[in-house]
Amino acid sequence: MNIQENISLLPFNTFGIDKNARFFAQAKSTDEVKYLIRKSEEMHLPLFVLGGGSNILLTKNLEALVLKMEIKGFELIGENEKEIFLKVGAGESWHDFVMYCIQNNWAGVENLSLIPGTVGASPMQNIGAYGVEIKEVFDHLEAVDRDTLEIKNFSSEECRFGYRESVFKNDLKERYVITHVVFHLSKAPVINAEYGAIKQTLIEKGIESPTIKDISDAVIDIRRSKLPDPARIGNAGSFFKNPTVPVPIFEKIKSAYPNVPGFSNEEGIKIPAAWLIEQAGWKGKRFENIGVHQLQPLVLVNYGGGEGNEIKELSSKIQESVQKKFNVVLQPEVNFL
Ligand SMILES: Cc1cc2nc3c(=O)[nH]c(=O)nc-3n(C[C@H](O)[C@H](O)[C@H](O)COP(=O)(O)OP(=O)(O)OC[C@H]3O[C@@H](n4cnc5c(N)ncnc54)[C@H](O)[C@@H]3O)c2cc1C
Repeated sequence: MNIQENISLLPFNTFGIDKNARFFAQAKSTDEVKYLIRKSEEMHLPLFVLGGGSNILLTKNLEALVLKMEIKGFELIGENEKEIFLKVGAGESWHDFVMYCIQNNWAGVENLSLIPGTVGASPMQNIGAYGVEIKEVFDHLEAVDRDTLEIKNFSSEECRFGYRESVFKNDLKERYVITHVVFHLSKAPVINAEYGAIKQTLIEKGIESPTIKDISDAVIDIRRSKLPDPARIGNAGSFFKNPTVPVPIFEKIKSAYPNVPGFSNEEGIKIPAAWLIEQAGWKGKRFENIGVHQLQPLVLVNYGGGEGNEIKELSSKIQESVQKKFNVVLQPEVNFL
């Protein structure tokens, strides 16, 4: 296997941060994953698993062996009257997987079109968009235990999915390398067009009975109009999670800001982080090479040449000002390295 030394990670992270990996290798099979786990132990270096680099912020050179996940493949492993079961290599691009499902008329992931990154990273934070999360189509995943090199299957329950959360970000952080994910997809279209912007886009296009392809196209149009393209402006999508606050805190905010948006859930009221950041005066603010996007304040951007530490500092300032103004703590969604 080719293990390269001192490789720039600039092409491998969507924030466009120029930091190096001490060692870097691509894993195209489960055996290669195992080999690299052993190798990192021999080298006395941590192993860092890299997918598409669309949810990380590099603040320093990585004194690590970086395993770039490249396990590919789609395998139909079962079906019944209603569903098919598809096993997908962790290194497949998430969006390519969504397009593959749409071509085959398998429903369930069309609302998740155009999310950057790999299939293997999708369970890490239970990716979600436009009213759908992957836990709804997730069957199980296969992962290599870094301590024993054994392969373990995780059911949906064992993954402990939550809002942008899973066991792999918490109790089992950095313990497993995900190699394959199995999804159950519906043979009959189950259209989920309830999300406001999708409904509106379909109306504008004059589509009354949408197919899953229509939903995917609508989501792609909306995302392109709202989110900066990382190929042009470095970013990692939503930088913070939307916070859920206890009802009394929400009521207090509402008394001062009657238009505050809020969505009830089991734990309280979810407030869009973008609204809080905008009210705190950050929308569109630019500080030399970095800033807060002018259309979507939840997205921090690198206009080119920005440093991870600068973006980290900016994110701390945003957190402080939102906490001071609203008594709400914003949690980052992005993984800091
Ligand atoms: C423009 C833009 C829009 C976005 N929109 C959304 C959105 O709508 N919804 C959403 O949920 N997210 C969104 N994201 C965030 C991001 O795309 C997802 O979190 C995605 O799943 C990250 O995948 P990745 O392969 O790039 O992971 P990476 O950034 O490479 O890695 C993220 C974390 O997962 C770990 N990891 C990656 N692969 C594996 C593996 N195989 N085994 C073990 N650990 C692994 C890494 O070590 C790291 O800790 C967006 C990002 C961008 C840039």
